[in-house]
Amino acid sequence: MDTKFTWSITQKGEKALLYKNYLYGLRRENKNGSLVYACTNKSCPRVITLKNDAIIQYDVTRHNHDPRLADDVQNVFTGLKRRVITDVDKSIGKIYEEEVKKFVSNLAFAIH
Ligand SMILES: [Zn+2]
Repeated sequence: MDTKFTWSITQKGEKALLYKNYLYGLRRENKNGSLVYACTNKSCPRVITLKNDAIIQYDVTRHNHDPRLADDVQNVFTGLKRRVITDVDKSIGKIYEEEVKKFVSNLAFAIH
């Protein structure tokens, strides 16, 4: 199974898991230490189980909506690359922080 994923953020600025262009937020922690991440679309029941930052289980059924966040997520990374090249005198950490803030405020309008 494909277990490649990246970390992203939700519109509330919380840590989220990005898997196949869908965004998942932390739902709960199991007693065995694994973490259950649920699709951030509230009407969508898809979940992913993570342990030690690795996907150990995921729901293979289809989402009931399009991966609308893909473009926004792509934008933040493209913007990031461009700024790292142009703002050579700024630290990368600072640029990242600014881009993430911009991303969060854009996202608030973009989804649902
Ligand atoms: Zn979903």
